[in-house]
Amino acid sequence: MIPGRTNVKTRSSSKNRLTLGYVAILAATLALAILLGWTALAAQIDDYAYDWMFRLHPPASGPFHSIILAIDDDTFNSMGGVGAYRTMWARAFDLVKGANPKAVALDVVLSDPWKNPAEDQRLDRAMQGVSNLVLAGHLDSARWEDPLPIFRQHAAAVGHDGADELSTDGVTREIPLEERTVAERHWSLALEAFRLARGARILESPADLQVGDEVIPAPRAGSVGRPLRVLYTQEPIPSVSLKELVEKPELVARFNGQVVFIGVTSISATYDRVATPNGRGRIPGVEVHAQLFETLERGRFLTDASNLAVLGFCIAAGVLAGLIFSLLSGWIAYAAAGVMLLGAHATPFLLFRQGIVFPFFAPLASAWLTTIAAASYRYFIVRRDLRDSETERHRYQQAIHFVTHEMRTPLTAIQGSSELMGRYNLSEEKRKQMTDMINQESKRLARMIQTFLDVERLSDGQMELKKEPFQVSEIVGACLGRVLPIAERKNIRIQTLALDGSLEGDRELMEYAVYNLLTNAVKYSPPDTEITVASRLMSVGKDGAQLRLSVQDQGIGMDAKELRQIFQKFYRTKRAEASGEAGTGIGLSIVEQIVHHHGGKMEVASQPGQGSCFTVVFAAGTRASRPPAVSV
Ligand code: ADP
Repeated sequence: MIPGRTNVKTRSSSKNRLTLGYVAILAATLALAILLGWTALAAQIDDYAYDWMFRLHPPASGPFHSIILAIDDDTFNSMGGVGAYRTMWARAFDLVKGANPKAVALDVVLSDPWKNPAEDQRLDRAMQGVSNLVLAGHLDSARWEDPLPIFRQHAAAVGHDGADELSTDGVTREIPLEERTVAERHWSLALEAFRLARGARILESPADLQVGDEVIPAPRAGSVGRPLRVLYTQEPIPSVSLKELVEKPELVARFNGQVVFIGVTSISATYDRVATPNGRGRIPGVEVHAQLFETLERGRFLTDASNLAVLGFCIAAGVLAGLIFSLLSGWIAYAAAGVMLLGAHATPFLLFRQGIVFPFFAPLASAWLTTIAAASYRYFIVRRDLRDSETERHRYQQAIHFVTHEMRTPLTAIQGSSELMGRYNLSEEKRKQMTDMINQESKRLARMIQTFLDVERLSDGQMELKKEPFQVSEIVGACLGRVLPIAERKNIRIQTLALDGSLEGDRELMEYAVYNLLTNAVKYSPPDTEITVASRLMSVGKDGAQLRLSVQDQGIGMDAKELRQIFQKFYRTKRAEASGEAGTGIGLSIVEQIVHHHGGKMEVASQPGQGSCFTVVFAAGTRASRPPAVSV
């Protein structure tokens, strides 16, 4: 058979398998990337990326609509420390209410009565007349710590004071606009101050909140109530300390028409400090509320991209990577993949500029992993194709070599005899002998060519086997006639035992197979040994029978590992090569094909140095009345 010809159907189905494998690998990589996007590590990386973009593209500062009235270190130390807190708030309210602020929010929880009731009464009096007052409530273990009723009565609203609840790394990027227990919900301090300053109510829908004509995109998000990203300004919120205000009452003008946040900024008093994405050190909790208020006031928000959009992007990146490496090749494919990766890197930043927060990890992991998977897959496929075509070329060369080698012997004989006949005046008897030989050898040549063509067509499924009945003894006899002269040269005796049975099939091909087994036995046996040929009908099981045609030698033999490979094309054992007898290693693969196409199988028993026994086995139905025949 001349290798290198592959059936079209096999090609296309193996191509389909390749495509399926490619899609499966890309899908698995994509799924992995998306799954990794849900890990804590991915969340942390997304947060870092967010902070980085935040610094690259910071929100515009000012004009500010809020001001902080701060209990700073100076105020705290000079006005009496913790014990004088209530007096300090009272003074703050007294000073501020004259300035006519839009709203006043106190970032202090007044849930416990003071040691000195007179100070509570003083604060109660100071609160009177403060319009749009927002007091703070604190959610502690599913319970609200709300202001005492004497203070609550003055408040237009109570807002929650949560300012750093949502992050795992201590950076406050977003604040929940609502916090709730089963019984009660508080909006955040800043949102209450905002809606009072606007003189509007809060209208809520699952997707957003509306205050006046301002729509705040803060959808309800599971257990976390409506988180909103705070757009911290680079400049700090304007601030006046209580001490300064007491000393310079004219500063009160700065509070006019502003929303005032009163709170403690003194580090000696409390370490209420919060890290922000702009990485400029920590800021006091009261400033975070003021920053949230400014975010609401500016009306420009950062919203998170929907999960569906992120998933869609990841899938699109994977599909694109797959298409790039299946449709393009070489450097063009790598360049296109590079452009795609650049696009994937730029997307979160471009979207951030449009106010959309797009995660980094899952999209980039999807783009990178699928690109790597697609590129490696294509790389290995190209390498495999190259290797396959190399092997095919090699096989083809070997086949040509084999065919020419096999043909050389009869051709030499024909050439030699014809030359002798032309050159010399030979006797009639000698002439007759030579013409007979030329005739025989040319027939052998024709047979050989026919056999190659037949086997090739057979393996391509193009040929139907001939179905002629013949006796096993006939084909063995014909083969022996050709093998005996070679065996005699090595003084190898060929013994034939019973040659039972008949077959139905292609006589030429079967003869080729038996001839091959016999010449191998001679080739791979040392001189002065014996070869035994036998064909027997044996009953197996209840009704079955087998025709077993065996060729046994006392030659070099093979080990188990070699035995597993001898039917592969061009395989030759080291032992055979060392003996100097090895041929091209194609004969047995043809024998196996012929036997296989006749519905039979090959059995080989062998031991190194002990000889080999090749048996061709055909199944045969036994009938008592007539001799069993194998039909194919
Ligand atoms: P070739 O004989 O041309 O090399 P074959 O396909 O007929 O090719 O055989 C393949 C290999 O199997 C041989 O090279 C040899 O190593 C081994 N082999 C075949 N027949 C025998 C045998 N009777 N004894 C030992 N080795 C054998």
